[in-house]
Amino acid sequence: MPTSLATQDRMHTLWQVATDRSLDQHQKIDAMLKAATLALDMDVALLGETNSEYILRHVYDISGLFQLPWQIALDQTVCYQVQLHQQSVFLDDLAADPVYRQHPLFTQFKFAVYAGAPLWVGDMPYGSLSFLRRTPRQQPYTPDDKTFMELLAAWFGQMLLQIEQQSELRAQALTDMLTGLPNRRAAEIRLAEEFARSQRDGLPFAIAICDLDRFKLINDHYGHEIGDRVLQATAHTLHNQMREGDWLARWGGEEFLVYLHQVDHAQAFSVMDRLRQAYQQFPISTAHGMLKLSLSAGVSVSQNETATELTRILAEADSALYEAKNAGRDRVIMHQAAQRNMRWKAGELQSALHDARVIPAYQVMMDLRSNTAVADEALARLVGKDGRIIPAADFIEAAEGLQLIHLVDETIVRQAMSRCATRLGAGASGAFAHFVNLSPQFLARPELVQQLLTNAQQICGSCSVAQDAIKPLVFEITERQFISNFDLLVREVQPLLDYGFRLALDDFGSGFSSFLYLAKLPISFLKIEGWMVANMRHNPKIKDMIQSIVDLCLRQNITTIAENVEDAETAELLLEMGVNWGQGFHFGRPQLDMNSQAIVTL
Ligand code: GH3
Ligand code: MG
Ligand code: MG
Repeated sequence: MPTSLATQDRMHTLWQVATDRSLDQHQKIDAMLKAATLALDMDVALLGETNSEYILRHVYDISGLFQLPWQIALDQTVCYQVQLHQQSVFLDDLAADPVYRQHPLFTQFKFAVYAGAPLWVGDMPYGSLSFLRRTPRQQPYTPDDKTFMELLAAWFGQMLLQIEQQSELRAQALTDMLTGLPNRRAAEIRLAEEFARSQRDGLPFAIAICDLDRFKLINDHYGHEIGDRVLQATAHTLHNQMREGDWLARWGGEEFLVYLHQVDHAQAFSVMDRLRQAYQQFPISTAHGMLKLSLSAGVSVSQNETATELTRILAEADSALYEAKNAGRDRVIMHQAAQRNMRWKAGELQSALHDARVIPAYQVMMDLRSNTAVADEALARLVGKDGRIIPAADFIEAAEGLQLIHLVDETIVRQAMSRCATRLGAGASGAFAHFVNLSPQFLARPELVQQLLTNAQQICGSCSVAQDAIKPLVFEITERQFISNFDLLVREVQPLLDYGFRLALDDFGSGFSSFLYLAKLPISFLKIEGWMVANMRHNPKIKDMIQSIVDLCLRQNITTIAENVEDAETAELLLEMGVNWGQGFHFGRPQLDMNSQAIVTL
């Protein structure tokens, strides 16, 4: 039906409001309601949503009688008729209407005129658009008025649909599709709100950033789909462990952010450590079997007294996370503690090196077939001034940061070499191998390698035992840092090989693994990463991976050593699979050799 000019004129007025860029959608609806009320010569406009109740959503009423929020039973409203028949209703004179002259709209509020049209949003009935007038009209309403009102209702329906779609889009833009958690953007917005609130009410909060340990391995071994599934399950597990009022977001790839409200340092640690334990205890079921993972977390607590900035708290949590990773993963580190440790470590490390308080602890390796000790590995320990023994994980990062790691290597190698000579002198077998770690920083310094060889010659020269071409010392190099630098590495280790030392490739399977290492590096031993060893028993795929490594090494004449062997069943299985040696708590913990006087178990 063509609209009359009158309708077009009135529409034009509304159009001007609708295209006002200074208004948001809700403000536009309000302004249009006002314009429409005037155009229809009415006093009040009501836009209501109806389900079992009538809920007022927008209103124009200068008398202030109707105000948001307002809600009544649907059957008490006049627009009930509109809803019921899905048709516009015009009641020119409520006083004369047989049904509505008893209605409170007339009896109590003294309205004389009602007009209403049904309102749809998309293809769903939404509610109604209603107008009220206090005094009767001289002229009854025309079909034009009806058309105008129905067009208006359709227009409002369209606007409400847009609002709905926009808020859905907004929600989507703030949600991580994989896990359903708030994404980083959403977390940032929410953190800013929480931060402002904490500034106002003075209550402390904490932010924890959690990162899954060795997650890359999951992708590498099982593919991204399983990786995704693990991330979903992780989100689910962590979410279920949240305290009320705390929340979780996906911060990045395999990083999750936890917001902890009203916590001090100790509480934040205990909440997060519980979360860590819970996560580590629940295996995640995947199409490839059960997987057990762990996470590391860095936590920073807000400090109200120093008006800490949010970005700083985040950076602190991040650096604590870094610390947690370096300290061996599967742990929670609090920012302040991390800072204290670093300071402590830096000073302590320098004086410990100076005072010769960096010493090796030895962990035995067993031949799995004969069940005899065949080698040991020297692991760095720091003896504190108070006599406390500090494990490598607690100071190696500081040593790297302070560019002192080569000195740690140097002292451990020297001590391991003298011990080797002493043992040989005391009648030990030359076939017993001594493994020592060498960092890339050490190998990168030819003068240190040269010094090592000079020391070796001296010690070997003083050794009463006849020298074989192959020396009992084996240097462990880790694959991690070398990935792009095979040729350089081969050049660096060549003098050691020429002297008769052998090489072991450490941590094979830790995520940086490449079979290229086996092809390119002249290694005699390969150490299978502890994570794989620990997980192979409940995971056939990992077991298969280990098996293929073992088979390959067998053909290459490389001795395989499994790290982290913690029980007899694992040792037995490894033996069946053809792994040569094992190292781990099942066989023995690292022990200090205090000049053979006292053996301290660590
Ligand atoms: P670390 O213990 O040091 O954290 O070791 P990591 O292997 O977990 O650390 P790294 O940061 O090297 O690897 C993270 C991996 O997470 C790399 C990336 O491919 C993977 N990842 C990130 N986002 C997703 C995702 O949405 N799905 C899957 N399947 N993998 C993801
Ligand atoms: Mg990561
Ligand atoms: Mg990770």
